Amino acid sequence: MSCWTRREFGCLSVAACVMAVTSRVARSQAKARVVVIGGGVGGATVAKYLAVSAGTIEVTLVEPKPRYTTCFFSNLYLAGIRSLESLTHGYEALAQRYGINVIHDSATTIDPVAKTVGLESGAKLPYDRLVLAPGIAFKFGAIDGYDEAATQTMPHAWIAGPQTELLRRQLESMEDGGVFLIVAPPNPFRCPPGPYERASLVAYYFKQFKPRAKILILDAKDRFFEQDLFQDAWARHYPGMIEWLPGQFTGGIKAVDVKGRSVKTAGDTFKAAVVNFIPPQMAGELAQQAGLADQSGWCPVEPTTFESKLQPGIHVVGDATSGGDIMPKSAFLANSQAKACAFAIAAALTGSERFGPNLFNTCFTFLAADDAVSVAIALEATAGTIKISDILISQVGEDAETRRQGVQAANGWYAAFTHDVFG
Ligand SMILES: Cc1cc2nc3c(=O)[nH]c(=O)nc-3n(C[C@H](O)[C@H](O)[C@H](O)COP(=O)(O)OP(=O)(O)OC[C@H]3O[C@@H](n4cnc5c(N)ncnc54)[C@H](O)[C@@H]3O)c2cc1C
Repeated sequence: MSCWTRREFGCLSVAACVMAVTSRVARSQAKARVVVIGGGVGGATVAKYLAVSAGTIEVTLVEPKPRYTTCFFSNLYLAGIRSLESLTHGYEALAQRYGINVIHDSATTIDPVAKTVGLESGAKLPYDRLVLAPGIAFKFGAIDGYDEAATQTMPHAWIAGPQTELLRRQLESMEDGGVFLIVAPPNPFRCPPGPYERASLVAYYFKQFKPRAKILILDAKDRFFEQDLFQDAWARHYPGMIEWLPGQFTGGIKAVDVKGRSVKTAGDTFKAAVVNFIPPQMAGELAQQAGLADQSGWCPVEPTTFESKLQPGIHVVGDATSGGDIMPKSAFLANSQAKACAFAIAAALTGSERFGPNLFNTCFTFLAADDAVSVAIALEATAGTIKISDILISQVGEDAETRRQGVQAANGWYAAFTHDVFG
């Protein structure tokens, strides 16, 4: 018969208690794991704000590219005003300053039951919460003849990087007197003023170096964002250089002939020296594969937490979300959504204070090197709904000094914003 003294029994039970408590503490101290897929504006912001706001969360960011080039301001590169290097950002600060585990790889699979993400390298990442910020994908095949191979002749330049460089080279080698044709996509698409800002800034370049060149915009739409501001600027800065043809005039874009560098509409064929074909868009491919997108091609989300309406426990931010007419696909809004999402995840995983979502969007648009306009929108998100609460927009007829100040504000915004995301 084993015989324990009171003292020995006491020791044993204390030891057992200590072990039990230690393992409970270890369990509660084991960090919750959040995996963020996509290191663009939306994903990098979620990762950074989770790391900053909740030190008890282990944050992993998966992004294939070692450096990220911003689409915003890439039209300035096409105009010869900014270098592409000045628009390119690394992930060192996110890894070193904020302790984010940055993995340069592509996510290929999501298992929402096992809660794992599979990477192209074969590795598997377990998660407690998952965030997707994969940006956009193109609907290749929506227009006859425009497939992925066609992008090498008729670049879209709608994801910044090699495509933007290719378009710039084509513009540089174009003869004076040639036609630069932009095909503008149907709604919704990344950056509603983008195609028209591009027309303005390429016209700025042509005005200096190829003054006989023309720009033709074939639009899938009948109206476009900030149309009065653009058309006023085109008349003032580039008279006779830019022509815009709406969908109702052309009957819509039907096909491209890549070899012949021409675009076919319902009634005509337009030949050009350089074609910038911006295809119809949808949420990034992984969002489609993972069942996060609905029939619209975009991902429906709860607007206060950015949790998917189709897959609980998975959040989506940035251009991949379906924002209707209310949430334009902009970097500013992707960043704002990402902060709301990060605070909601931190609250869910750690019980930290929940900050209400403050969603804003400010877009600066360049009409020339010394002429920039802006639109600022405040949004009000409640469970299930989102509406515009305030809007401030530049007006036709503003004086030159106001527009020069717009340029200064835009440049200041770029520096502060990219520091907020990557710095
Ligand atoms: C010409 C142009 C001008 C613009 N100007 C402005 C502007 O002035 N102001 C403004 O606010 N917005 C502007 N925008 C829009 C802005 O660039 C986008 O809204 C913004 O980049 C969206 O951020 P995102 O995080 O959703 O997507 P992205 O920034 O595109 O990031 C997505 C990231 O996900 C990664 N990824 C995709 N799939 C995977 C995967 N399977 N695994 C891992 N990673 C993956 C990609 O590599 C990419 O880095 C402009 C856009 C264009 C094209």
